[in-house]
Amino acid sequence: MKVVTVGTGMAAAEFVQRLRLDGFSDEIVMCSDEDFAPYSPCVIPFYLAGEPFDTVFWKGKDFYRHYRVTPRLSDPVVEVDAEKRIVRTAAGRTEVYDRLFYAAGARSWYPCPEWLETQGVFGFKTLTDMVAIDKYIKEHNIKKGVVFGGGFIGVDAAWPCGTGAWI
Ligand SMILES: Cc1cc2nc3c(=O)[nH]c(=O)nc-3n(C[C@H](O)[C@H](O)[C@H](O)COP(=O)(O)OP(=O)(O)OC[C@H]3O[C@@H](n4cnc5c(N)ncnc54)[C@H](O)[C@@H]3O)c2cc1C
Repeated sequence: MKVVTVGTGMAAAEFVQRLRLDGFSDEIVMCSDEDFAPYSPCVIPFYLAGEPFDTVFWKGKDFYRHYRVTPRLSDPVVEVDAEKRIVRTAAGRTEVYDRLFYAAGARSWYPCPEWLETQGVFGFKTLTDMVAIDKYIKEHNIKKGVVFGGGFIGVDAAWPCGTGAWI
């Protein structure tokens, strides 16, 4: 029985950990469009506030090795053929599965997505976003930021600034 997950996020990591803890010993492949061990988006603002980078890997940076998982990273799944039980990735890789766990998360809604192509404008959703923001702040010695959106995530985005980590 081969298990494939689309996503290496919180849901997929919990699922895979549970499988292994319950004694499942067959093959598990985890696919992600990012290049990280499973991380918690809840914790990524702490990284911007100066906490060590590895704090975000809430189930351990060696998750894939520890839970005997084959990671397929930096390669988004673009198609699921449920009849043939195959997933296809952007790079042309295919994975045949017996059971598929589809956990690709949610997407942020951007009122002006073209702004994201602009220098200095970022989403605040993924670890890839955080690494890009952190790099930009450091490279350009940024002292002031503007947050679009005043909900939970917006407050989370403004918070590292308030800790004095940037200024
Ligand atoms: C900044 C921030 C702070 C948050 N704080 C909290 C909090 O304090 N409390 C709380 O309860 N919730 C919080 N959340 C929400 C919480 O992080 C999400 O509810 C949770 O991560 C959802 O888990 P998930 O596994 O469904 O999706 P995610 O954790 O987003 O994982 C999705 C996975 O799918 C992958 N993926 C996406 N598309 C593809 C594709 N085409 N092919 C392959 N892989 C793909 C992604 O790379 C990722 O690995 C926060 C979110 C953010 C962004």
